[in-house]
Amino acid sequence: MKTKGHGQANWTERLKARFPELFRDISVWGIFCEAGWDGLITRLGERLITLEVLDLRVVQVKEKFGTLRCYVVGGNDEVSAMIRQAEVESSETCEWCGSQGDLRKSDRGYFLTLCASCFEKWSSNGWVMAPPS
Ligand SMILES: [Zn+2]
Repeated sequence: MKTKGHGQANWTERLKARFPELFRDISVWGIFCEAGWDGLITRLGERLITLEVLDLRVVQVKEKFGTLRCYVVGGNDEVSAMIRQAEVESSETCEWCGSQGDLRKSDRGYFLTLCASCFEKWSSNGWVMAPPS
């Protein structure tokens, strides 16, 4: 069974290059979701740096129960509000392709936010948690 995180080391490096301070403490395994949320995470990074919170660092970004989770150190209420907003957006963004999506549940009780066509792939792919290659 495939798991999340294909090529994500690359993704982590890209985020570190773009947001050197914000993502400086993220590990290779710090991004644990699929590429459809790339734009969402980049937008979140752009918003967070406008707050200019000293020493704010994103330490982990992942999918949990079908939506985005973003863990930081050095945050404050404004940071938390921005992260919550991104989590809400993730429940409407396909994690596999980035299209408009809905939070969906498999018959085994897993949750993923997917568009209609990715949901079909998910269903026909034995409900594995990663997009078919
Ligand atoms: Zn999709």
